[in-house]
Amino acid sequence: MSQAQFDADLLIVGAGPAGVAAAVMAASLQLHTIVVEPARVGEKLHRIGSVENVPGGWSAGPELAAALEQDLAQLQAGGQCRLVRARAVRVTGLDDRAELALDDGHVLTGRVVVVASGVSELLPADTPWTSVPHHFEPAPLWRASPDHLTGLTYVLGADRPLGTWLRAHADARTQLNVLCPPGDDYKAAEVAADERVRLVPVSHVAITRSTYGPPWTLRVKDRNGQETAYAVTTVLNNLGTKPAAFEGLIQGADGYCPPPKQHPRILIAGDIRSARYQRIVTAQGSGAEATLAMYYDLALLRP
Ligand SMILES: Cc1cc2nc3c(=O)[nH]c(=O)nc-3n(C[C@H](O)[C@H](O)[C@H](O)COP(=O)(O)OP(=O)(O)OC[C@H]3O[C@@H](n4cnc5c(N)ncnc54)[C@H](O)[C@@H]3O)c2cc1C
Repeated sequence: MSQAQFDADLLIVGAGPAGVAAAVMAASLQLHTIVVEPARVGEKLHRIGSVENVPGGWSAGPELAAALEQDLAQLQAGGQCRLVRARAVRVTGLDDRAELALDDGHVLTGRVVVVASGVSELLPADTPWTSVPHHFEPAPLWRASPDHLTGLTYVLGADRPLGTWLRAHADARTQLNVLCPPGDDYKAAEVAADERVRLVPVSHVAITRSTYGPPWTLRVKDRNGQETAYAVTTVLNNLGTKPAAFEGLIQGADGYCPPPKQHPRILIAGDIRSARYQRIVTAQGSGAEATLAMYYDLALLRP
């Protein structure tokens, strides 16, 4: 396949910190990119009120998201990048090219695909310690506004966004009853001192729709097997995340996509690499590195 037959040098899945960093680095090397993103640029950051440990002094997710959007807009204006509004559904590494199939039926070709699709929320159906009605998908805690939390609020899980939410809404007086399975104990310790948090250690929680009064009934089994029922107004999801993987990626036992296990034309960047490296700055570094790895790998540059 000749150079002109590729849709772009790099096809990038996801316009989060990792995907945008990959595109910015590519432009600096005169490589052309197509970024595939079904939502907004920096979609996740738009929803994170307060961020920490981000070089450049960024402290609010939406501001950083706006900066990423501006970066991509500049690349697009310079003709170095194209943003395609679609979801990637399958990636294929071949001897002479990589292919990316989209949910709108199009198939794009490039020298490599950088997969930077991040992680998505775990749902109650994914966890063994909850039983819930069919299709029950509570709203994520980290997107919840305290103004909308009236009545008794229960949170499923004590994953780290709890601390972020408390920091982002420092003035909120909302009481959060946090149902904490044993696996989350070490994370719960970080917020235990906050008086707005009531930690409830649990071994199992069964949720049913109520026929009268508050909409939900929670039957909560503590770690000694003792059961208590609560009539609850709002249930929020804070169970954690799972990698946003799709067909063609090689996943490890934990569902993440280790970069060395993939086809040489499929490069992995950002949160989807591992549960251990989920920070904005490491996402950006790995996105830029994926592009550099491709640039210095002459075999991939040769058509
Ligand atoms: C509540 C919360 C607070 C956080 N606070 C901090 C903090 O203070 N400091 C810090 O460093 N990090 C923080 N993080 C982590 C940080 O947000 C992530 O590490 C970072 O966003 C990862 O970047 P990424 O580009 O890998 O993935 P993401 O930012 O998740 O971007 C992935 C993009 O891929 C898109 N996508 C997904 N699937 C597909 C598909 N199939 N096709 C096309 N596109 C797809 C998504 O729409 C998304 O826009 C926080 C996370 C959360 C949830």
